[in-house]
Amino acid sequence: MSAAPSPADRERARERARQEAGELSAEGVRRIALTWVDNAGITRSKALPTGRLARAARWGVGMSPVFDVYLVDDSATTSPHIGGPDGDLRLFPDLDRLTSLSGQPGWAWAPVDRYDQEGVPHPGCQRLFARRMARRAADRGLELRMGFETEWVVTRGDTAGAGLRYPTGGPAYGMTRLVELSEYVGDLLDALVAQRVEVLQIHPEYAPGQFEVSVSPADPVGAADLAVLVRETVRAVSVRHGLATSFAPTVEPGTVGNGGHLHLSVWRDGINLCRDGDGPCGMSSVAEGFLAGVLRALPALLAIGAPSPASYLRLEPSRWAGVFQCWGPENREAAIRFVPGAPDDPAGANAEVKCFDSAGNPYLVTGAVIAAGLDGVDAGLALPPPVTGDPVHAERVPRLPMSLPEALRHFEESDVLREALGEALFGAVAAVRRAEVALFAGAGPEHIAAATRWRY
Ligand code: GLU
Ligand code: MG
Repeated sequence: MSAAPSPADRERARERARQEAGELSAEGVRRIALTWVDNAGITRSKALPTGRLARAARWGVGMSPVFDVYLVDDSATTSPHIGGPDGDLRLFPDLDRLTSLSGQPGWAWAPVDRYDQEGVPHPGCQRLFARRMARRAADRGLELRMGFETEWVVTRGDTAGAGLRYPTGGPAYGMTRLVELSEYVGDLLDALVAQRVEVLQIHPEYAPGQFEVSVSPADPVGAADLAVLVRETVRAVSVRHGLATSFAPTVEPGTVGNGGHLHLSVWRDGINLCRDGDGPCGMSSVAEGFLAGVLRALPALLAIGAPSPASYLRLEPSRWAGVFQCWGPENREAAIRFVPGAPDDPAGANAEVKCFDSAGNPYLVTGAVIAAGLDGVDAGLALPPPVTGDPVHAERVPRLPMSLPEALRHFEESDVLREALGEALFGAVAAVRRAEVALFAGAGPEHIAAATRWRY
């Protein structure tokens, strides 16, 4: 468990928050939204007037721990360590991430870490978990750089209406879409840039009304924070353009869904270990071990990174969703696509885990991937031969779990993830998965898609 900040640390945070709040107020920012992401993958929030920020930095903002066992439909289950009406937590904003929101003028945002009322780290806090795993890598001299790709679908109107009306009929990757929604995409880029988000690229994706944005890599917690900020910025700018956004794994059953792919590279002493080594595709043995650990754990990791029954409507072959448990250089049908990068770009080489989606809590995803990767490093695992071409034709390449119950079974059998998450968080995640399986038992694809479409 990470060491808790002392009262003196909190006093310093209060002083800093007072200054930051003063600057924000001078800019006209009068409210601050604090967010965390629950185990069902939903970003939950409490907001405060800017004048309350210093108090929040010193003593936190109260919140029930029951949200650790909330489901996608806002009903609650329970778990061995967490769940029930009693108890309270304190949400502490991370002032390093405090961001004035361009898509929501007058608002700022900060993600929170969750502690109990005595100031002890909450064992269910997903963000502290991701931080612990980043530290575990640092203890081995390793640094992870990570970045999520965000895919979403825009439709006209609000989220209540029946039937989906797309604001552009343009083709996949079509310039038509960028022209028809020129102001929307432009405003979105402007908002992200104004928020100091380094956008790598934005493009129309395959499904109707679908777009994707990718951002520069960051440390594991920073990458998860960015995933939240990017998603809420997309949503806010869409609202201002009269558009509704779906980040759900499956917007319409039977077609390409929204992925939430995770790019990662492993570094030591400022050197990218995904290149200039003696291993496959030029990676070092450490990067190979890391990717082999992730590859081996993917069936269990799916319960973290593809956590909804709707995720399994998306996970179909030929949709670049990476449903085969294999890896390959630039292979978009493999669960792990290795990206060698340009020979003269030291930061370019990385791996993309394609089977994840945005229903996955990004803090759980980064933390769990590090745990699995380090397990592979410690065991000195080697990668199997790379797969070229469509893995559907390859021999002995297993398909990843095809349902949430199947992924959950692997998760519950994973000693690596159980140890890394700790009993409380592991138990809460498993309970939420089990309860969502029960919630959608017997439901058809249309029902599952409709019930999750506007939730994430
Ligand atoms: N939309 C695809 C998915 O569901 C991904 C397409 C791509 O490779 O970016 O993961
Ligand atoms: Mg994409």
